[in-house]
Amino acid sequence: MVPVPRRVSARSRASASPELPGPDWVLAGRGLVDGHLQPIEIGISDDGTIVALGRDLHAPERHDVGESVVLPSATDLHVHFRDPGGPADVENFAAGTIEAALGGVGLVADMPNTRPAVTDASRLEEKRARVTGRTAVDVLLYGALTATSRVDQLAMAAGALKLYLSPTTGVERPPTRAEIPGLLQRAAASGLPLTVHAEDPAQFVLEPPPTSLSDWDRARPWTAEAAAVEEVIAAAPRELRLHFAHVTSARIAERIAKAGHSFEASPHHLLLSRASKVGPRAKVNPPLRSEGERAHLWELFALGGIPCLASDHAPHAASAKDVAFPLAPSGMPNVETMLPLLLAKVRAGELDLARLTAAAMDRPSRWIGQPRGRIALGHRADLLVVDFRSRRKITAGDLHAPCGWTAFEGYEGIFPREHYRAGERIVLAGEYIGTPTGVVRRPEFAA
Ligand SMILES: [Zn+2]
Repeated sequence: MVPVPRRVSARSRASASPELPGPDWVLAGRGLVDGHLQPIEIGISDDGTIVALGRDLHAPERHDVGESVVLPSATDLHVHFRDPGGPADVENFAAGTIEAALGGVGLVADMPNTRPAVTDASRLEEKRARVTGRTAVDVLLYGALTATSRVDQLAMAAGALKLYLSPTTGVERPPTRAEIPGLLQRAAASGLPLTVHAEDPAQFVLEPPPTSLSDWDRARPWTAEAAAVEEVIAAAPRELRLHFAHVTSARIAERIAKAGHSFEASPHHLLLSRASKVGPRAKVNPPLRSEGERAHLWELFALGGIPCLASDHAPHAASAKDVAFPLAPSGMPNVETMLPLLLAKVRAGELDLARLTAAAMDRPSRWIGQPRGRIALGHRADLLVVDFRSRRKITAGDLHAPCGWTAFEGYEGIFPREHYRAGERIVLAGEYIGTPTGVVRRPEFAA
């Protein structure tokens, strides 16, 4: 296993005493206890750790949010902040992490298919330098697993690995079928978690060029996804910590779950279908599926059958998207709207809050080896305050992505009113008030 740094607390964590220090302040509101909303009090130390939970806690300061709900901040396993390589006016670490903070996401995992792709230690280091001093929330950096990647170097510095089985930005040549088992072996030996973009390009039908969302679904069908998933499951070493990105079909989800691996679904595959009127702006990889397929995927998510929710935030300029369908790049912005869209579904009675917090906070944090995503003693006080009465219509003008558009225009959203990072408030009344003190995180798996 790769040695990973642990955050050392300035206070009693270093002492031999198992006792936690008394809280310096208390956040009181309602929270999920045993699956039900109940009054809770969270005692937080000055170093931003949760040191007490219960009722009638004593501390020098107290912040009572009344009926509002206190939740852990979300962990988003899948963002493309396009930094370096840009274009920077479409997205970058500074802007993207402010969007994350406003959307209730406290940790983002940034994908390696930037220009250039993150394939060795120097490129990882270059990316790390772009994060330090610039990000509103914490960041975990993926390294790219390709035939020519320096996996030995990435193992010492990256937070996870990403394998693309179809061509993408910076990774123009995906592995052949024969190369896949060897790559999975190298990932397992690195000790890092591995996320796979599973689509088999041999099953793509790209001629004649697709001109609509329905064509796009036919060009990159769910069967291409299913075939790639089978290929990877069959070749995966037992010790590999394996996760599949953006699963679009309930059938595939159930297959992965049966094999005992992790996976994610993205808000656009849960909420939008190829019947969407958004046109090329909703062109994504893998494609939006039929309305029936979407409904099945949502049903499985609402039943708790999908472990992780991830945004696959991948913005492009409106001018790049509003062109003839074959020319439009794939991807849409999502990191600011992911949790608000789903919180609105909770309020509408279509989704259980405990299921949402499992998929958006707890399970992704565990998969990536982070002590967060739950309101628990010893965890960092990375917390949200949500007022379920304050829903609003999502509109691009109110969002903060430099690309300036959203495929969820007019959808209901519930945005966190407050967001705390290690006990420090970075969002108040829906406005970002923090400083760029986010850090690069690495997995902290128990030995
Ligand atoms: Zn992606």
